[in-house]
Order: sequence, then C-alpha cells, then structure tokens
Amino acid sequence: MSNVDLLGRRNFIKGMGAAAGVAMAAPAMAVSEKADGVTWDKEVEVLIIGSGFAGLAAAIEATRKGAKDVHIFEKMSYFGGNSAINGGLFAAPGTPMQKKEGVKDSVDRMVADQLAAGRGIADEALLRHVAEHAVEALEMTFDAGSEYHPYLQQLGGHSVARTYQTTVSCGAGITQPLLKMCRKLGVNTHNRSKFEGFLVGEKGEVVGVKMRQNYHFGEDQPGEVLKIKAKRGVIMATGGFAQNVDLRMAQDPTLTSEVGCTNAPGATGEGMYEMFRLGAIPVHLAHIQSGPWASPDEGGFGYVSNYSIYNFPHSMAINRLTGKRFMDEIADRKTRADAELACRDEQGNALPPILITSYKDSKKHPNTKKVIKYNVGWKFDSVEELAKHFDVPLKPLKAQIEEYNSYVKSGEDKQFGKNMTKAAGKYIEAPFTVVRLWPKVHYCQGGVQINTKAEVKDSFTGQSIAGLYAAGEVCGGIHGVSRLGSCSIPECMVMGMTAARSMMKA
Ligand SMILES: Cc1cc2nc3c(=O)[nH]c(=O)nc-3n(C[C@H](O)[C@H](O)[C@H](O)COP(=O)(O)OP(=O)(O)OC[C@H]3O[C@@H](n4cnc5c(N)ncnc54)[C@H](O)[C@@H]3O)c2cc1C
Repeated sequence: MSNVDLLGRRNFIKGMGAAAGVAMAAPAMAVSEKADGVTWDKEVEVLIIGSGFAGLAAAIEATRKGAKDVHIFEKMSYFGGNSAINGGLFAAPGTPMQKKEGVKDSVDRMVADQLAAGRGIADEALLRHVAEHAVEALEMTFDAGSEYHPYLQQLGGHSVARTYQTTVSCGAGITQPLLKMCRKLGVNTHNRSKFEGFLVGEKGEVVGVKMRQNYHFGEDQPGEVLKIKAKRGVIMATGGFAQNVDLRMAQDPTLTSEVGCTNAPGATGEGMYEMFRLGAIPVHLAHIQSGPWASPDEGGFGYVSNYSIYNFPHSMAINRLTGKRFMDEIADRKTRADAELACRDEQGNALPPILITSYKDSKKHPNTKKVIKYNVGWKFDSVEELAKHFDVPLKPLKAQIEEYNSYVKSGEDKQFGKNMTKAAGKYIEAPFTVVRLWPKVHYCQGGVQINTKAEVKDSFTGQSIAGLYAAGEVCGGIHGVSRLGSCSIPECMVMGMTAARSMMKA
C-alpha cells in the first residue's frame, strides 16, 4: 500500500498524538541493583546480550581467545536482530576484491570519507580502530562461510568502491553463518531471554544481570527473572532504538509512528537506557538517520532500498515538480535524505522524487525483477510514458536527461559534482526502470560512549565501568552526524571482537 498520503508535514504533527498512544515500545521498568547478598541462579564466564553482528562476533572472538563458557542472550524468539534483515553491505579498506579490481584504498581514506559525513563530530579514534580491523572482521565472515557477490559497490559518500555485498543481498548471509559457527564452537545461545538490569558490586563494577526467561516480545507477561553472574563481565550488544517511538520522538518530535522505519521490532533501546542509569554517557542521541534509498510504496527496507543503493551511481534522481535533478545521487545519506524531504508540491505536500535508471543497467541487480513484479518499481519504454505516469513536466525532463548524459560522457557532473566513475558508459536511455524515493528512519548514531577497548565510561568517575563492555549500534558518537552505508557491519563486528579481546585481556 502506498503511504504517500501519510507523508505531508501536517500529518507529521497529527501523528504525534497517535504515536503517544502506541508507545508499546516504552521499555518495561528495569532497574539495576546492588549484588550484595544475591543468590545467583546461574554463573557464566562471558555474558553477551544481543545476537546481531556485535554479539555474534564477540562470542566467536571470546571463544577464540580461550573462553570456555560463552553465552548469548536474545529477547526475541529468533536470533539476529537488525543484522539479520540488513542489506548485507560490508565496507573495508584494502580487501582482496579491491586488489583484484585495482581499487586504491587505505585506512586513512576510509576514515576521511567517514569524517566528512560525520560533519566534524565523529570519533576519529574509533573510526580508525574499526577501519584498521575491518578486514579481520570480513575474514571472520569468510571463515564462517559467508558468500559475496563477485564485484564491489561504491556507496554514497565513499570516495572509492569498497563495499562487499552478500550473495543473498541480506545480513542473514552473515548472521546465519556466524550463528552456526558460534554453535560449532560451543557458544550457548538463549532466545526469549530479556535483559532487565545489572547487578552491581561494591565498587560499582558489573558482576551480573537480571534476565527474564520465556519472554514474549510485546506481551505483558510475568516470566521468571534469573540472576546470572558473569565471571569475566557483560558485553552489551543490544542494538539501536529506532523502533521505540517515544524515545526517538523525545529526540526529534517529527519521527512519529507514522514515519516509516526499516528496523526489526526489537530495536527498542532498553539496554542502552539501563547503561545510562548505571552512569554511561549519552552521545549524539538526536542524530537519527533516515535512509534516502527507501520507497514510500512498500513497508520497511523492502526491495527498493537495495535496488536503489546499487543503482544510484548510474541513475538520475528527479524532482517531479520541476523535472530536474535536485541532488548528487551518491552524496552521504543525510544530504540526500534532506534533499528528498524538500521535494514538495506547490501546496507543500510531500512529492516523493523518482530515480530513473536505464533498464539495461538496472537489471543486473537481482531486486530489479522483484520491484517490477511487486509494483514498487515500473518499466517504461519511452520518456513520454514515464513523464505522463509521474506527472513530470516533459520538456525539462528531456533536457535534464540530455544534460546528465553529457556528464556521463565527460565524466564530470557540472550540476552536483557527483563522482561519475561508476556511471561511465551508462547513459540514461529507454527503456527505463523507475522507483519512488522517500526517507525512512533507519539508524541511531547515538548511544553510550565507549573507547577503543569497547569499555563504557562512567559519567561520574570518568573511569571505565569495570565488567561492562558495549559494541554495535547501542554505542554512540562514532559516526557523528551521518553514518556512511555499509560501515555499520564492520563497526559492529570489530567492536564486538574488541570487547571480547578486552574482556579476555588478549
Ligand atoms: C533494514 C536494514 C538494512 C541495513 N543495511 C545495512 C548494510 O547493508 N550495511 C551496514 O553496514 N549496515 C546496515 N544496516 C545497519 C546495521 O544492520 C545495524 O546497525 C546493525 O545490524 C546493528 O547490529 P547490532 O549487533 O548492534 O544490533 P542488532 O543486530 O539490532 O542486534 C541487537 C539484538 O539485541 C536484542 N536485544 C535488544 N534489547 C535486548 C534485551 N533487553 N535483552 C535481550 N536482547 C535484547 C535485539 O532483539 C537484537 O536481536 C541496516 C539496518 C537495517 C535496519
């Protein structure tokens, strides 16, 4: 179902009341306690909460470093969180495929691209740490059996092609092999187990957790709460909070329940808030990223997102009111999402722009067939047909196509300075494939502050909280204002591995 009628500014405001009423995502009361005199129900060596990239990589690395009794606890009935439904796009500098394709890249270059997107507030030390170890994380996925397309992609804001993508174009192509590897290594995995608070020792150190058993997401039901001792400590890998409408609206009131979201339902943020209650420092919570490649014609990430991520480099994004381009199609996400949101009709209502690609170039992506089959993308034999369908003024559109094709030829985009490397030889010509674009809430740049050892700093003492580590989207400040596409997988995995190494003192 198209939700374009829900996109107008007035509806954002109207939605605010509605959102308050559907705040199922508000975390249940979870309070950390002193561990004094506690009777432990269970004792484990390494305790990991969350089964996405960060949690799985942490478990494998802890085992590799000698841990014998590693446990992952996951509140949902299934494992993988947002990681399992993600696009499977993984950026790293200096990879085997870059060598094969002759792409010159380096840690410095990847960090510089991310710093530019972070607009001055990203954490350079963390970005560098992740870039330096990204190939190791990629290798962990190779070892586990992940398979990738035999080509690299150049995503928005990246100055070179450095992104692998799983052959299934989905994060499950990584989480499933990692989960299998965890089990092979003897990691204990528990689903329907919800973390509800820390148990804290005399000096404020984390010594264990309270874990609700037999938890059913979204249902208000008792379930026994176990007190579990963590001998080496706890790794929080509980992901972002994009599905928690109250929390995200507290940062940005326009992000109501009516604004589409790409995330899995469990991305509700209570793990992060419990760390704040313990003393962790909140960073950049208001920087919530919207994905500029999403479509208003389908729910969640859908088929269009991966389709357009692949096609943006050799496509033209058009404002339907003017028939002209309005952005660099491979600028960073925030630049593009802001430009798309500014596409309005004369009354100020949302007018989702269109992405025009030559069918011959788009059809190389496996999702092209699906977007056409499920009516979230359309094929047109002529520009007249296309303009009529989307009510775009024909003359300026024709002139724009001609102008854009001159940039394809010269390799220089005089309108928006787009890097035309991946557009070489790919002229915009009939037949065309077209999708509509409208940003969806996608990623939380904010979270708890960590250092390059994945330790969580205490706001009161300024020291790391002993026994506590955090990794993945639950952490904040790494990317600053805008995370580049394909940079979360390396971050989650590297910081998960780092947390395990810190805990194992390896
Ligand atoms: C649709 C989509 C596509 C994306 N595509 C890409 C991409 O191609 N490349 C890229 O780099 N990034 C991508 N991202 C971003 C990336 O997938 C996420 O940032 C990443 O998966 C986060 O991993 P994580 O391990 O931190 O958290 P998650 O994978 O979200 O895992 C956290 C887990 O913790 C569990 N949990 C939460 N609270 C509790 C609790 N109280 N008790 C127990 N368990 C709990 C959750 O249920 C969840 O399973 C995408 C994101 C989405 C939503």
